[in-house]
Amino acid sequence: MTLTVAIIGSGPSGMYLADRLAKKLPDSQIDVIDRLPTPFGLVRAGVAPDHQGTKKVINQYEKLFSQPGIRFLGNVEVDRDVTIAELKQFYDAVVIATGAQVDRKLGIEGEDLKGVYGSAAFVGWYNGHPDYRDLTPVHHHIRSAVVIGNGNVSIDISRVLVKEPGEMEESDLCEHARAAIHNAEVETVYLAGRRGPIEASFTPPELRELGKLESAIPVIENTALPDDLPDWVDTSVPEGRVRSKNLEIFKSFQELDASSAQKKIHLLFQASPAAILGNDQGEVRAVRFERTEIDGNGKATGTGEFFEVPADLVVTAIGYRSRALAGVSFDDKRGGYPNEDGLIEENVYVVGWGKRGPSGTIPTNRADSFQVADRLIADLGDGQSKGGPEALNRLLVERGVRVTTAKDWQLIDQLEVNRATGPAPREKLTRVQDMLDSLD
Ligand code: NAP
Repeated sequence: MTLTVAIIGSGPSGMYLADRLAKKLPDSQIDVIDRLPTPFGLVRAGVAPDHQGTKKVINQYEKLFSQPGIRFLGNVEVDRDVTIAELKQFYDAVVIATGAQVDRKLGIEGEDLKGVYGSAAFVGWYNGHPDYRDLTPVHHHIRSAVVIGNGNVSIDISRVLVKEPGEMEESDLCEHARAAIHNAEVETVYLAGRRGPIEASFTPPELRELGKLESAIPVIENTALPDDLPDWVDTSVPEGRVRSKNLEIFKSFQELDASSAQKKIHLLFQASPAAILGNDQGEVRAVRFERTEIDGNGKATGTGEFFEVPADLVVTAIGYRSRALAGVSFDDKRGGYPNEDGLIEENVYVVGWGKRGPSGTIPTNRADSFQVADRLIADLGDGQSKGGPEALNRLLVERGVRVTTAKDWQLIDQLEVNRATGPAPREKLTRVQDMLDSLD
């Protein structure tokens, strides 16, 4: 049995799907399409620049592109260069693996002030995503930043804001962001969660890192740490054990000496953002929070008591939505694709954050994409073997699209590695035109 499959998106969920399909049906033709000239989605542009170990997974993905049945087609944007309807004509199956790249909104006053960014934009900026290259979120006068949300993304952002240049030397933090962050004088980060420390979505290795920074110390605000876990936490399941470990780590933070710390990360719990406040120039100056109470099930309710913290920069890290693609149903409320175990409609599937919502790490996507790949194979039975790749090639040539290939990526990759200085692993190209020009 062979199939022709178009996968839209070359991040982890798309690459794991390609991997599984290729292993199970080695004669299949799999085209991995990406709107950027460079592959690997969130591993390149989402994973923190100082988490190089996590980025090593790219080596596995790259090997897939050396297999004969798997192609990379970069710089091809669905809805700009080709539609899902066209892909459906060309391929036996189309799989949406575009992730969730749009910031969720808080829906409070002041969210549009200058100096307020969503985490997709902010992380995209420091990671050199071309969409966010021209943002200027960090100025030299920034002293106090507020990061809203208690997930791992909020930890990444807080950490990157306070790390010393030396601590980022071995990272691939892009030069424009490196200069801006290190010229800024961020002394204080408020990392704010609307619920308490037990309810936070942090995972222990990431949380632990906050206690190991050169000049910044985490300080727990606003709440007393409980001696024990509440009844609703079940430590016989992994999630409960994570909460238990987090509590131990929070307790260890209280033993750190913050008195001489140059920088502080205030872990502000039970603080629900009520409004973002600006000055006469429309720039952010503070965030007003409502204190919350946590009930016996970990749910937060407002107490009617408000307080403000100063903010020269606000980053909301409260989750993401997927972007709707034309011609397939989309759940606008949830911000994802309605699906039944990955199936959206006949021959159209979804994997990753577009399927499950914006949660889970790279290994979560692996297991999930494998399941969808197996389902796709079972559903399609004997492939109808539409003429996929050739038909798409013709259409893209007709439309004058400059498609980048896996070989092109190797060239860009090498160029980026060569541009790096000191122990940095690479200096990314951050503009699409520069990437394309580098190939001429
Ligand atoms: P997340 O883990 O879902 O955290 C989102 C946070 O936003 C939660 O604390 C949530 O609070 C809060 N929030 C949502 N709406 C809010 C509102 N209206 N007001 C205030 N707070 C609000 O999401 P994430 O940090 O974006 O991470 C996404 C996924 O990527 C996660 O699975 C994460 O573990 C993973 N990730 C992993 C790593 C790593 O392994 N190093 C790094 C980055 C991301 P409630 O709990 O109260 O809803």
